[in-house]
Amino acid sequence: MNYKKILENKGLSVTNARLMVLEYFDISGKAQSMSSLLKAIKGSNRITLYRTLKQFVDKQILMSFSGDNNLPVYCISQAIHIKETYVSQAIFICNKCKTVITREVHTSIIETVFSEFLIKNEKILIKGYCPNCSKNIKL
Ligand SMILES: [Zn+2]
Repeated sequence: MNYKKILENKGLSVTNARLMVLEYFDISGKAQSMSSLLKAIKGSNRITLYRTLKQFVDKQILMSFSGDNNLPVYCISQAIHIKETYVSQAIFICNKCKTVITREVHTSIIETVFSEFLIKNEKILIKGYCPNCSKNIKL
């Protein structure tokens, strides 16, 4: 992934803080909370990180969800991997290891249910346990 190009395409100037956040999300492949990012990214501070996350969400580089305790959790928007235009995506977040898996989904059901609306984007959030973690969970 070309981090500089992503920032430039989104009209954001290239700064070290932005590059580090973007790289971390790309490499970890996991949903991250503010506190996990503060621990993981050396030299990051709360205010800069907060602003960076907010800008990334506004520019649809990241998506945010409410996680445990209703604190926001962030993950990379799959749209930037694929194309700049809208893709419908289902996002799975593992409750235990926070792994994020994004898959494109068929939109026909949503378009049927919301037939009188013009849908521009959607996100479907699925929470549960990934194949690895579910081995150790008694259902
Ligand atoms: Zn897991």
